[in-house]
Amino acid sequence: MKAAIIHEPHTPLKIEEVDLDEPKAGEVRVRLVGGGVCHSDYHRIDGHSAIATLPYVMGHEGAGIVQQTGPGVSTLSPGDHVVFSLTPQCGRCRNCAAGRPNLCEGFTRGSGLMPDGTSRFSKDGIPYFAGLATFSEETVVLESSLVKVRDDMPLEKACLIGCGVMTGVGAVLNRAKVETGSAVAIFGCGGVGLNVVQGAVLASASKIIAVDKVDFKLEKAGELGATHLVNADRDDPVERVLQITDGGADYAFEVVGFPQIVRQAFESVRPGGTAVMVGVPPEGADVSVPARPLFQDRTLMGTFYGGGRPRIDFPWLIDLYMDGRLKLDELITKYRPLDEINEAFEDMNKGVTARTILTFE
Ligand SMILES: [Zn+2]
Ligand SMILES: [Zn+2]
Repeated sequence: MKAAIIHEPHTPLKIEEVDLDEPKAGEVRVRLVGGGVCHSDYHRIDGHSAIATLPYVMGHEGAGIVQQTGPGVSTLSPGDHVVFSLTPQCGRCRNCAAGRPNLCEGFTRGSGLMPDGTSRFSKDGIPYFAGLATFSEETVVLESSLVKVRDDMPLEKACLIGCGVMTGVGAVLNRAKVETGSAVAIFGCGGVGLNVVQGAVLASASKIIAVDKVDFKLEKAGELGATHLVNADRDDPVERVLQITDGGADYAFEVVGFPQIVRQAFESVRPGGTAVMVGVPPEGADVSVPARPLFQDRTLMGTFYGGGRPRIDFPWLIDLYMDGRLKLDELITKYRPLDEINEAFEDMNKGVTARTILTFE
């Protein structure tokens, strides 16, 4: 079975034959149909996000078909279509009970091991670490990392729901709770930023101002419903947002992951407005904003995974797509086989793709 492995940061991924153990209690084995190539995968290669444990099986956006369930699995059966959730949810911790499963405290995350401290992936008897491991023909994950979805939803598109769409649309609707008629600015129109645009459309925002340095991404933002496009290489984005909104946006979203752009987003909102940090900040970074404007009832908030409640939000987002009210096809520039994962990252870095989907035989 083939999987894409990172051995060292700043080196290409290797496609290797690996072994996958059977699912243990509470675990499920899934055959991947589609895997979304997300910028936060690349952040593990370029060093923006640390990986504690190597070698590591990559990928966190995926959709597929259940092959086998371990003892005690009660909500899924072989043949079920599933979308992977970025976060498992224990259902018992304080945040799960409060309706914030994106912040579940029930599992230690980021170790690359299952909760019992072992890994299901190995090669020549040596354990390989993994999160969801969606850049793999098959994977074993916790039952609570999977959400069952309707059978008529194409899985090679459904994979986008699990990270990029949930994070972007959720930042607008779940976390910021943008009101109808608001003026919204979006700093950064990559895979997540384009879904912030979509969220603003779903919220019936009055003005949707897309900011990026890449014209291709701005065109995409326009296709998805942005009303104003600002190229930050040609214009000062803060000035432009203040002009277009006559004094400041009601909401501004930072979807790049750089503290100086968080500051720009904050400087773009009117008194009483809200700036939302959606992008993944570099490890150890600080954010600073000017104090006097903060004093004028402005809010700076973060959001992790768009306040996602996967069991509620995935089926809802998929219904929206099937009803023609959420765009996924427009987000997908290319389909590539797993073997071309490094080329997919090259495309991403050149800014010539919105999203690439990996497909599996
Ligand atoms: Zn992602
Ligand atoms: Zn929990």
